[in-house]
Amino acid sequence: MRYVLPGTLASRGMALGRARLVQPSRYAVDNRPLAEDEVEAELERLHRALDTARQELRELRGKLHGALAREVNEFIDAHSLLLDDAELLRGLDDLVRIGHYRAGAALKKQRDRLAAVFEAMDDPYLRSRKEDVDQVIARVVSVLQRHTTPEERKLAARVGEVLIADTIAPADMAHLAGNGLLGVITSSGSAYSHSAILARSLGLPMLVGARDALSLLHDEDLVLIDADRGEAIVHPTAQDLARYRAWQREAAAEGRRLATLANAATRTRDGAPILLLANAETPADVALARSRGADGVGLYRTEFLFLRHKGLPTEDEQFNAYRDLVLGMGGLPVTIRTLDLGADKADAAGLVLRGEDNPALGVRGVRLSLRYPAVFTTQIRAILRAACYGPVRVLVPMVTQPDELIAVRTLFKLARQDLKRENIDLPEKLPLGAMIEVPAAAINVRALLEHADFLAIGTNDLAQYVLAADRGNDALDNIYTPLQPALLRLLSHVIGAGRRARKPVSLCGEIGGDTNFTAMLLALGLTEFSMHPSQLLQVRDRLAVLDHGILRNHAARLLRATTHEHVAELLAQLED
Ligand code: PEP
Ligand code: MG
Repeated sequence: MRYVLPGTLASRGMALGRARLVQPSRYAVDNRPLAEDEVEAELERLHRALDTARQELRELRGKLHGALAREVNEFIDAHSLLLDDAELLRGLDDLVRIGHYRAGAALKKQRDRLAAVFEAMDDPYLRSRKEDVDQVIARVVSVLQRHTTPEERKLAARVGEVLIADTIAPADMAHLAGNGLLGVITSSGSAYSHSAILARSLGLPMLVGARDALSLLHDEDLVLIDADRGEAIVHPTAQDLARYRAWQREAAAEGRRLATLANAATRTRDGAPILLLANAETPADVALARSRGADGVGLYRTEFLFLRHKGLPTEDEQFNAYRDLVLGMGGLPVTIRTLDLGADKADAAGLVLRGEDNPALGVRGVRLSLRYPAVFTTQIRAILRAACYGPVRVLVPMVTQPDELIAVRTLFKLARQDLKRENIDLPEKLPLGAMIEVPAAAINVRALLEHADFLAIGTNDLAQYVLAADRGNDALDNIYTPLQPALLRLLSHVIGAGRRARKPVSLCGEIGGDTNFTAMLLALGLTEFSMHPSQLLQVRDRLAVLDHGILRNHAARLLRATTHEHVAELLAQLED
């Protein structure tokens, strides 16, 4: 039966696929005890599900090729071993035979027991094996719970999967996207989380905050995500599917129209030149940035290299990635941000401190890098070496006070001296910039400008810290909005300070690529926008109809607004 699941837009577009649920600790299981004469049939049902799960893993292994196969096969092997684990199987059988548990309830019970064992382990690797248990048991439970019509199964098999989860880690999403994932629905999370950013960059439609997704949906249900409307339709009708096909046609036509802007200059209606930069992480991002006429890379998040990697990437591995980026941009400037791990970006190598009470207010970004000078120096050497191949700027995340910039400069100077001794030719000077994403840095920006060659405003974090509202918490959506007057005033303060110091100021938070905020940012004086390359053409298109002079004249009115609703009203008037 068709029903509509409401959620919040995190990444635009529509996607049609079959549901895959991942949230093993929340299965709805039938806890009624079995009657004695039901036991044998239930054991058989359990073992059939275990067999199907084994078979699915074998099939998955057969489907993967190349680098992805090497990475994923390790997980598959571990999971296959678990499915054959004698103790796990004996425990399950006992629960059904002696405890009269139903198959689903027995699986949940075994999962809880094993999870407790793993959680109690000191070794962080062994502790993390709990996730494997979760995933394996979830696979078997999902086999047990599957119910779908043969027609749906046929259609769904053609169109791939939509992931339904409580939350999803950015690394998992990257992994799955390479594996044919079509869209994501999470029951919690926010549009400003790193996963949401990644979904936008991968072009994966995503809904967050779809509270009942895990309890209402089943594996293999056919789902149509309509992210722009903030909903997902479960068991869509022929009419829904027709709307989806119409959307596909429109999206293709709009794509063709925007493509004509790829080589156009970026100017406002009254001719003010604007710099459009790309937030680029992958070779595909770089290719897109070039093909859409970006003026350079405004943000390259190096932590993605660390997140994908088991252990720390070596100097050469980093150098190769940075050099490819620089070469890929063909002489246009590239802004490489030093490591920004911590908060919701935890690494596999164990640099990030565990057990911080407030990781978002903890040792993240440059604070973490300065704690590990040897690791940081490896990155600095790789950046310096890559800078021989084209113009590079270095951006430091989570700067709070000038001494952090001074310390980073010193490490660059020392690394430069070492490389010179090793007879490596280096460019004369690399501009060093500060991310402005901590309120203290924004307020005290003049002091930072004495040590920084440029600034990049990170509104994703700046908003979270100014508003004391976690960027990943959907319960705070009415507070976490870029229209907050306090944020506007800070942005205006930072942009003005940069202009007076004659130093470039760009903005690389998500609002930089969101055409809903282009007029507001122009009014506040911003002339350098950095965004995911998929958004470049839309923003160029929007800028061409906005009048820079008129908007600048309205800045004072915007800055006098006292509520975000008031800011929204003023902006709506400006658009008319
Ligand atoms: C930001 O905080 O706005 C930003 C661009 O950095 P990240 O999203 O990687 O924290
Ligand atoms: Mg940030």
